[in-house]
Amino acid sequence: MTLHIDLQAIVANWKALAAKASGARAAAVVKADAYGLGAAHVAPSLYEAGARDFFVALASEGRALRPHLPDDARINVLSGHMEGADLTGLVPVLNSPEQFFRDRAMRPGKPFAIQIDTGMNRLGLEAGEWSAIRAEVLAAKPDFIMSHLACADEPDHPANAAQLAAFRAMTDDCGVPRSLAATGGILLGPDYHFDLVRPGIGLYGALPFANAQPVVRLSLPVIQTRTVQPGEFVGYSATWTADAPRRIATVAAGYADGILRSISSKGASLYAAGTACHVVGRVSMDLITVDVTGLADVPRELDLICPEQPVDRLADFAGTIGYEILTSLGHRYHRTWQ
Ligand SMILES: *Cc1c(COP(=O)(O)O)cnc(C)c1O
Repeated sequence: MTLHIDLQAIVANWKALAAKASGARAAAVVKADAYGLGAAHVAPSLYEAGARDFFVALASEGRALRPHLPDDARINVLSGHMEGADLTGLVPVLNSPEQFFRDRAMRPGKPFAIQIDTGMNRLGLEAGEWSAIRAEVLAAKPDFIMSHLACADEPDHPANAAQLAAFRAMTDDCGVPRSLAATGGILLGPDYHFDLVRPGIGLYGALPFANAQPVVRLSLPVIQTRTVQPGEFVGYSATWTADAPRRIATVAAGYADGILRSISSKGASLYAAGTACHVVGRVSMDLITVDVTGLADVPRELDLICPEQPVDRLADFAGTIGYEILTSLGHRYHRTWQ
């Protein structure tokens, strides 16, 4: 079970997104262990390529990443200053008046950033809270002010322009660097770029960055093969029955490894050097069954994620998004970084 991660492709995707937002500095979002691909490998590669701003979700993620980056790399924590968090060497993105006052009381003079809510209603100060404390916040000199777009993957969604207008109205006269765009926002164009952009998923080769280089190949070993006769079924609940003699390979990975059970019977394949072999029957915890009748020779490994079936295509079969496929990839894979 090998998860091949192409660090050169991640760097190329970062550079491509940075070039699309050439008026802004490009950060790198490496939360959830760089979307499952290994922040301790991804972040130093991007640092080497020129990234100096990184985002994680939790202080604990930031603490784990800190030793892997030089001191001049800024690690921003999106959940802000939560009670009991160790923020040594990190920059909390403060999300509420409560977080702001807690942070200033506990970390006076230490760097921080501010998030304001422009319509997503998830994180950040509401407009009223912002106007109530903005003078005090600005006097404390935040590194930057940010907000987050809810619908940036849908360029025509009216929420994009509405959030942009709200962000401008709340920050135009602040004189502080600003950040609004993640991957989707970068693709919306320069109005959305401001001073710092925060690409995540696009670095890892998935939508909405349609022109991304592929980053991940997932190769799964074949444990055994067998021939099933017409009328015989395969797997739990007997959801698939052979209509003709079929060669079935049993492969060593399952939903415990993030191969979502919902891809069962949806037409997903494993690939042998470009040849598609359908997944048949249910995905089980540690195993998948695959129809390899069409192969002259069954290789030792079959690929589930590869150029023929990228992350987003697998996500379609599962009824989800590339983000969930990547962040679900489990701990049992042998990860390699080239
Ligand atoms: C996850 C996240 C990002 C990165 O988003 P992508 O869509 O993966 O590019 C940027 N900003 C915030 C606040 C996030 O939560």
